[in-house]
Amino acid sequence: MAKIEVTILGSSAGIPTRQRAHPAIFLAYKDREEFCYLFDCGEGTQRQMLFAGLNPMKLREIFITHWHGDHYLGLPGLIDTMGFENRKKSLTIYAPEAERIRKILNWGYSLKRFEVVPIDVPIKTKEVTILLETENFKIGSIPVEHGIPSVAYLFLEKDRIKVDKEKAKKMGLPSQGIIYREIKKKGEVIFKNKKIKLKEISSVKKGRKIVYSGDTRVCENLIKLAKGADLLIQDCTYFDSGEFKEYEHASLRDITNMVEKIEVKKVILTHISRRYKNPKELRRQIKDYPSLVLAEDFMKIII
Ligand SMILES: [Zn+2]
Repeated sequence: MAKIEVTILGSSAGIPTRQRAHPAIFLAYKDREEFCYLFDCGEGTQRQMLFAGLNPMKLREIFITHWHGDHYLGLPGLIDTMGFENRKKSLTIYAPEAERIRKILNWGYSLKRFEVVPIDVPIKTKEVTILLETENFKIGSIPVEHGIPSVAYLFLEKDRIKVDKEKAKKMGLPSQGIIYREIKKKGEVIFKNKKIKLKEISSVKKGRKIVYSGDTRVCENLIKLAKGADLLIQDCTYFDSGEFKEYEHASLRDITNMVEKIEVKKVILTHISRRYKNPKELRRQIKDYPSLVLAEDFMKIII
């Protein structure tokens, strides 16, 4: 089975601290081939990648949740480095109002050895938009509520059909052969005058689901997207409840209310305001919620 490795490169909110850099999440899907993506790219992200032992040259696409400085100011430096390192392959950057990237790249006289392709993600829909699809997974977005155009992202592995060789044997099928490819493709085969259906000899292995909220209040679209996730990386700017609503972020209370209603296996609380200086105290506050984990820079989650 493919390994999914998620690295939190930055877990601070608007202002970084000595312990927490600006937001960025590196996701690697390691199958026969490796697929690497970056979600948000706060200032200093490329250096955080170096410390984490991650290679920026492996990045296929970048996904920006919104254009607040803490979520994108690492892009010009990262793209410059890719130029120095002789990247030739074009780089696609998905974001709401994606054309903004062109302005950013024209700030200076950076090397332009490869093409940067901006792709807009919808900001007015209640449905998930699939942005990218491979043989094994999809990446999509949905708008969220942050006062400016913002989205949450979804990484969804496709369900896998697993043939149960014992069941197949009982149905009289050979232990291997082209027939399995055929039955997976068509859903059924005729073998020795007998119709055998795929579901009779297989089980479905559910694909893994990862959601990154970006910056947002807890809202309908986020709840819809997060439902059933194996991993939710969630804006939790405020551990105090209520009074920060006007800033369009989620508080710990909003999040505990949400995860009580929907099934989420693990929630990484990130985008932590610098006002909270003592992580032990924050962990104490979440100790009664076994699915909640406080983010730290360089935290790796293997799913
Ligand atoms: Zn923001």
